[in-house]
Amino acid sequence: MYEYGNLIAGNWVKGEGGAFETRNPARPGEVIGRYVAASAEQVAAAVAAAREAQRAWRSVPSVERGATFGKFIAALEAKAEDLARSITLEQGKPLAESRGEVAKSCAEARFMMGEAARGHSQVLPSARPGIRNMVLRRPRGVIAAITPWNFPILTPMRKISPALVFGNAIVLKPSEFTPSTACLIADAARGIVPDGLLQIVNGGGPVGAALVSSPGVEGVTFTGSAATGKRIYALAAQNLAEISLELGGKNAAVVNDTADLGACLDQIMAAAFMCAGQRCTAVSRVIVHRKMLSNVNDGLVERAKRIVLGDGMDPATTMGPLTNEAQRARVVQMVEAGAKEGAEVLLGGRAAQVKGLETGYFYPPTVLGKVAPTTRVAREEIFGPVISVLAYDSLDEAISILNGVEYGLTSALFSNDNTVIQRFVDESESGMIHVNHGTIPDNHMPFGGVKASGVGAYSVGASAANFYTTEHSVYVKYR
Ligand code: NAD
Repeated sequence: MYEYGNLIAGNWVKGEGGAFETRNPARPGEVIGRYVAASAEQVAAAVAAAREAQRAWRSVPSVERGATFGKFIAALEAKAEDLARSITLEQGKPLAESRGEVAKSCAEARFMMGEAARGHSQVLPSARPGIRNMVLRRPRGVIAAITPWNFPILTPMRKISPALVFGNAIVLKPSEFTPSTACLIADAARGIVPDGLLQIVNGGGPVGAALVSSPGVEGVTFTGSAATGKRIYALAAQNLAEISLELGGKNAAVVNDTADLGACLDQIMAAAFMCAGQRCTAVSRVIVHRKMLSNVNDGLVERAKRIVLGDGMDPATTMGPLTNEAQRARVVQMVEAGAKEGAEVLLGGRAAQVKGLETGYFYPPTVLGKVAPTTRVAREEIFGPVISVLAYDSLDEAISILNGVEYGLTSALFSNDNTVIQRFVDESESGMIHVNHGTIPDNHMPFGGVKASGVGAYSVGASAANFYTTEHSVYVKYR
């Protein structure tokens, strides 16, 4: 049982907001964590403590900051198994996936540690004699971070790592559905990272809103739904705080031609069904050349049938439950809407019951055929284990379907034709573009989206500096 209040100025203090609990989505009768939310005054206290701690941290040489941060990553690695278990217990994904998430988070953090020494400053030629021009970067200050429930360590660490490495303080409000992992992360930092630099305020939307609108916050980083992102953008604007929004997706794999359809479908399956499809980068549309349609449908169904639904703690499980009841209700409603609009349910399509786990929030892997590009299942984010298959006859049609959605996060193409590859790379309206493989990103490449999938600097890799630092043009005439 996890029991946490709020981490403010180095101490876990009891929340003055409402109490809430988390439950195991595979066995909702089982309480996993008890938490007490922060009050608005406690949020303000955390922001004030962050400001004070950041004043000292920004003066620590960046290489030394990187070294301190390295000790913190080592502490996380030492408790990798505890972190992985906390993810599965509250979020539901199979333990093997949770272990992978912890390992990827630490690998990304290790890359970010090196950014402390790289610094991102520049020396440029001057237009005038005897003058040296520099573009310097400084820590932004106090960062407010709000994260969703689907990646309880990966998303918080994508904000904590650059914040600390670039000399900032961060106040994190994790999702109210999966706060235990963030609290364990903060525990690992205690005694290594100076007090006040990494603080946790727990609670739901109102706590997030209080944090984002705090006058002392200089940067707001949010990962979550587009609807909440718009609210946060408006709140942050009141303080003219810098913003970084990572929002939803309606990602597609275009299957044009491939020498190895089996390998192509294996990659699409992993991209579609990992984390029960609750990934912003999940492939939820497969746009297929009509000549391959029946082979693709059959191959997807055959593979999806092999998925084993169950409790993420059971090693036999390859897909866990959805994280909460509302999420399952949304998936049920979206698939019903798809069927009403003419989609053919090739597999799944109804909320599942798993023997011995009858109350769990399970939904089976679902493949929808004959999906029309104008329908809701083809356009809206589902965030569940559902793929829609859409057919095309010409490349122009494929690109028009691909780009005909409001989102622009990630996309994949499978093709051996260089002309097709070139057009896809140039025309796919997505922040991340993959050719002949799934949508898994590297640990050092910029991560983000265009259109309704994001606003502001990308996270992961070097481009995080654009959000976590401020830029200063300096002209020096030496005497
Ligand atoms: P959500 O938007 O409901 O909640 C995200 C966070 O915002 C939670 O911590 C929540 O408490 C907080 N929040 C809610 N209302 C708020 C308000 N008014 N002010 C401040 N904070 C508020 O999202 P979710 O359901 O937790 O996560 C699923 C969504 O996240 C999906 O749309 C998914 O695509 C998106 N997502 C995007 C990425 C990405 O990198 N692009 C990654 C993961 C998830």
